[in-house]
Amino acid sequence: MSVFSSPAFEDHEAAHAFFDAASGLKCFIAIHSTARGPAAGGCRMWPYESEQAALDDALRLSRAMSYKNAVADIALGGGKAVIIGDSRTAKSAALFEAFGRAVDALGGRYWAAEDVGLSPGDLAHARRSTRYVAGLEGGASASGDPSPVTAEGVSRGVALCVRRALGQGLEGVTVAIQGVGHVGAGLADKLAAQGARLVISDVNPEAAQAVARRTGATIVEGEAIFSAPAQVFAPCALGGAITLASLARLQAKVIAGGANNQLAGPEVGAAVFERGIVYAPDFVINGGGIINIAAEIRAIERGEGYDPAWVETKVGKMIETLDEVLARSLAEGRPTDDIAIEIAKARIDAA
Ligand code: NAD
Repeated sequence: MSVFSSPAFEDHEAAHAFFDAASGLKCFIAIHSTARGPAAGGCRMWPYESEQAALDDALRLSRAMSYKNAVADIALGGGKAVIIGDSRTAKSAALFEAFGRAVDALGGRYWAAEDVGLSPGDLAHARRSTRYVAGLEGGASASGDPSPVTAEGVSRGVALCVRRALGQGLEGVTVAIQGVGHVGAGLADKLAAQGARLVISDVNPEAAQAVARRTGATIVEGEAIFSAPAQVFAPCALGGAITLASLARLQAKVIAGGANNQLAGPEVGAAVFERGIVYAPDFVINGGGIINIAAEIRAIERGEGYDPAWVETKVGKMIETLDEVLARSLAEGRPTDDIAIEIAKARIDAA
């Protein structure tokens, strides 16, 4: 297995592997940067096909967290944990208590939160072994599920991109949402409330049906979401949705959604730009959740309560940064992703 020579390792401070025989925990915690503060990022549970795939995912996602946290201007670095296992069958209290011990062993250099496969209840088990867990429910500092704040930031970002690309509001605009889980369903509700028409897909038919009942969305199956007649494509499932092949099928003038790592590779960012599509870089538009987590960490560190006004201010600034990225892309003739990475790296270097 390669660590330092993995293409995903780029500039990481550390990559930790943890094993607990009693609970079966196998996990990697990657720390990309602590320059701006302790590393923070969600923990993902996934049945990776190999240990290398799990490590690479942790490395890729932790670097994206450094960028996301820097762009959101919160005093946190970037880190990510991945647990190897099927979240539908392999979860236990002992597993998450062991995960908490792993986090605690890092002495506060990494704060864990929720990502795909985890719930606040899992984090509550981890909290028994460490204080370095956020995104909990209950208690004065607790921020709860970050997804509603992520969805709020994404919906404002979609509105901004539509204004820039189409010169209009959301009324009557068709948005294709791939994946209507925690973030995608919240986004669907917010867009429908503003008069947008929705086309949705989800591999879980019940999730799609529930959203369709509430919003009047049209459901399409699988890959048909890419060619749906929509002005906006909102990836809200897993990463890598935008490939050269899926891009060729898109009719949308805007790509803006909640998923992490939406572009399958750097060449896709350039192709999106050449097509004249307004792309909201994922780590800029989906920072609402980590802002909410940062509010909890801030509250814990200061011995204060969770402050929704601080969250609102930061989400507002995040959308201003997205506007700056879109404006610079137009002025400088460069992909939005490149510009957003440049802003993030400059802020990390300055720290
Ligand atoms: P989730 O697991 O609740 O929802 C994902 C949904 O996508 C599920 O309903 C799943 O069935 C569906 N899905 C999976 N593969 C699909 C496919 N190929 N086509 C259509 N649907 C598919 O997860 P979530 O919390 O909503 O997160 C969604 C994305 O947003 C992830 O990439 C996550 O990393 C990212 N994200 C989430 C947050 C947050 O606050 N939850 C914050 C930032 C980024």
